[in-house]
Amino acid sequence: MRITALAGGIGGSRFLLGVRAALPDADITVIGNTGDDITLHGLRICPDLDTVMYTLGGGISTERGWGRHEETFTVAEELAAYGVGPAWFGLGDRDLATHLVRTQMLAAGYSLTDVTAALCQRWQPGLRLLPMSDDRVETHVVVDTEQGRRAVHFQEWWLRMRAATPAQEIISVGAEQARPAPGVLDALADADVVLLPPSNPVVSIGSILAVPGLRAALVATPAPVVGVSPIIGGAPVRGMADACLRAIGVATTAGAVGAHYGARGTPATGRSSGGGGTSGGGTDAAAGGGILDGWLVDTADTGTQVPGVTVKARPLLMTDIGATVEIVRAALELAGV
Ligand code: GDP
Ligand code: CA
Repeated sequence: MRITALAGGIGGSRFLLGVRAALPDADITVIGNTGDDITLHGLRICPDLDTVMYTLGGGISTERGWGRHEETFTVAEELAAYGVGPAWFGLGDRDLATHLVRTQMLAAGYSLTDVTAALCQRWQPGLRLLPMSDDRVETHVVVDTEQGRRAVHFQEWWLRMRAATPAQEIISVGAEQARPAPGVLDALADADVVLLPPSNPVVSIGSILAVPGLRAALVATPAPVVGVSPIIGGAPVRGMADACLRAIGVATTAGAVGAHYGARGTPATGRSSGGGGTSGGGTDAAAGGGILDGWLVDTADTGTQVPGVTVKARPLLMTDIGATVEIVRAALELAGV
């Protein structure tokens, strides 16, 4: 079976552990979010790709959910001693090696797709990890500060501001000119099933959908498309997805997020969305329409309805690998594969 999944960081990779365990023989392709990517100290950092790679490759810090286990922060301490920031972005010593290899390869002219494949040679995640695009796309957040309105990098808003300063707008900078990375459109067209893990609907799935052509490929694929809600009982399970949803005018409920993704074959109108993902995704959403056939919600949200989408309720907490495997099986059953 060929499974294609879109994924952000922590929610996406936990779900992917379940996909791999549920279907050890499946051919799994992951289209990873690169909207969180940032350049710091001259190094190109791809937090979501790395979280997927480390989690599936057994190198993740399970306590933190990001970065390497058995990590030290000597370089970060030395930078701080020089007064060189930013202090809000955690850069571990082991993790730095990944960014050094990536930056060196990019500088030598390799694409991010090639670099990611090279890094995965070491980690052997058991799936094919593709960046959504080889072109640079970065999520920026417009906030009002004492100095006036300004746009900050998503990581600064998320980590330094803890998403507490309301986002006036969330923008996928570069998305309009970006092309899907090689293999991405084929992975959607040739899949037997497409899964949307419980990743952040705005800054993970939304930024992937903002790459021109991606939403259309989801709309057009003959494979069923099933999503898993990251929102349970009106709140994100972890993180601050509610702050992102507020910025695009979508309520933090499983039903509103399902309606925001929308039923396949329906236009954007009639959906609850006030925006349509990140700004780049907004125009794409309006043009492209809905993407879901099935939507899995938690039992706390039993009774949720999304027009045109088959909704099923079951426990959605990925407490351990067994629970996650059961969620994946339910998603596949909902997809009818
Ligand atoms: P990030 O890039 O690290 O923020 O990770 P993702 O975008 O992949 O996923 C973040 C989302 O995962 C959050 O909105 C959480 O609500 C969701 N999430 C985390 N753990 C769980 C879980 O156990 N069950 C469900 N349904 N969602 C979860
Ligand atoms: Ca992320």
